[in-house]
Amino acid sequence: MPEKRYLMTPGPTPVPPQVLAAMAEPMIHHRAADFRKHYGECLARLKQVARTESDVLLFTASGTGAFESAVVNLCAPGERVVAITAGSFGDRWVKLAQAFGADVVPIRYAWGETPNPDDLRAKLAEIGGAPVAFVVQSETSTGVVSDVEAFAKVARAAGTTLVVDAVSSLGAVPLEMDAWGVDVVVSGSQKALMTPPGLGLVAVSRNAFEHAARVKQPRFYWDWEKTRAAQAKVDAPFTPAVSLVIGMNVALGLILEEGLENAFARHVKLGRACRAGIKAMGLELFSPDEDRSAVVTAVKSPAGIDSGELVKVLRDRYGVTIAGGQGDLKGKIFRVGHIGWFDLFDITTALTAIEIALVELGADVVRGAAVGAAVTAFQAA
Ligand code: PLP
Repeated sequence: MPEKRYLMTPGPTPVPPQVLAAMAEPMIHHRAADFRKHYGECLARLKQVARTESDVLLFTASGTGAFESAVVNLCAPGERVVAITAGSFGDRWVKLAQAFGADVVPIRYAWGETPNPDDLRAKLAEIGGAPVAFVVQSETSTGVVSDVEAFAKVARAAGTTLVVDAVSSLGAVPLEMDAWGVDVVVSGSQKALMTPPGLGLVAVSRNAFEHAARVKQPRFYWDWEKTRAAQAKVDAPFTPAVSLVIGMNVALGLILEEGLENAFARHVKLGRACRAGIKAMGLELFSPDEDRSAVVTAVKSPAGIDSGELVKVLRDRYGVTIAGGQGDLKGKIFRVGHIGWFDLFDITTALTAIEIALVELGADVVRGAAVGAAVTAFQAA
């Protein structure tokens, strides 16, 4: 195993040294004034990143836990809800809502397709409306980024509370919670927010809090009201992951220092560079060749090459970790993440490593063209 490691997955992502250093500080007590300073600042910064005046509730959990909080606060057993799914994470929310007794009406697309807001409008009209709809902004399993603004418009017109999975997209691609009228945004620490895994967050609009107050569904740890009331006093209802909060506060500071718009523009450039390099190598993209596909680039594995084998060679021989395909795409695609603490040189490193490993595996790829194409696309952007 090579000593030097390169993490190029769409989560977890590399963590900047300032964040790591902050997390290595001696432990402090979560009810003490010195922690509350970090906590209050972190909560305020989260609102800025989610572009909302609403509360952003912080849970010690992965993104799935934060999503479960949305289900148990918004979905009553037996109630009909709509879930849009075009990949692994959309499928997860169908199963999650079903696990809590919801009558889930899925709107299904083939993995890799881009969900269409008109289909939500038509489905809501067909079934006579639904109190809740779930949509994934960035479907990390395919690289597709959906038009959340358009989905929010449809949901609002139908009186449906929209829950957006922004686990891999918050901080990487635009999400204007208040301006677009999104009710609930779910995310996690370990992607574009440049922090280790372990914090889940849910931004909740006033409308969504009112909705939750009407829903009878057992909940305790995930009860939004408990966390809202505590956070109003810059406190947490349960022991928070102190070091992760301190680290994420630093990471959010870095994002805001760069400026959200600049961060979005950087992600567009990283996506363009990655796609240009992949195409120059003679490979075929699986994810859309479009600017908003700025989270992860998914690539079809060349004929005769199992993408799982490529992932293994890259990791074990070269210390480069990328992601393989999930579900039916296992073995067929590979994915290069470019969210969070990434720059052009991360992309050129990933491309170089992929080229070397594919040649070793016997693939017919164009040699020596990917890096030049990536640099040109990045600089032209
Ligand atoms: N939703 C999306 C789009 C994701 O990329 C992920 C993470 O892999 C999740 C949900 C689940 O988050 P977690 O693994 O933090 O529970």
